[in-house]
Amino acid sequence: MEEIVPIPSSSIKTIKCDTCNTTSHIYTVKEAGPHLYCTKCNNVYHEKYSDQDHAKIRTKWGRRKSMSIIESQAPICECRGLFLFNSHPNCKNCGCDLPIIEHEPDSRERFLYSDLVVFDGTVEYLNQGHKRIYRFEQ
Ligand SMILES: [Zn+2]
Ligand SMILES: [Zn+2]
Repeated sequence: MEEIVPIPSSSIKTIKCDTCNTTSHIYTVKEAGPHLYCTKCNNVYHEKYSDQDHAKIRTKWGRRKSMSIIESQAPICECRGLFLFNSHPNCKNCGCDLPIIEHEPDSRERFLYSDLVVFDGTVEYLNQGHKRIYRFEQ
């Protein structure tokens, strides 16, 4: 099942690539963890849990195991890239990681960081084959 999510222009932010200075438009989805970015494009996989299960997988002892299980359950992206915790949103111009999160967390921190960054046209893969496609309004 596919759902189009329109994002009003007033909610869209701009972010500048540190490497090539190109500006990208992004939207931040709050409380969307755990999520993994594609290694090749800006699509994402978001595995949804009940609040109780989410609290469980966020504990220290559960983290590493949960991360490898979530990575192994993630689908293959339509671009044939993989969804991994150490993958970041990329600049469309030069492909470098965008400075989305201020202190450049490692993949373990990324696991706990629930703000999801999407672009115009980003496909968000959800559990059970559901998809959301983000459309930025002009
Ligand atoms: Zn992809
Ligand atoms: Zn760039």
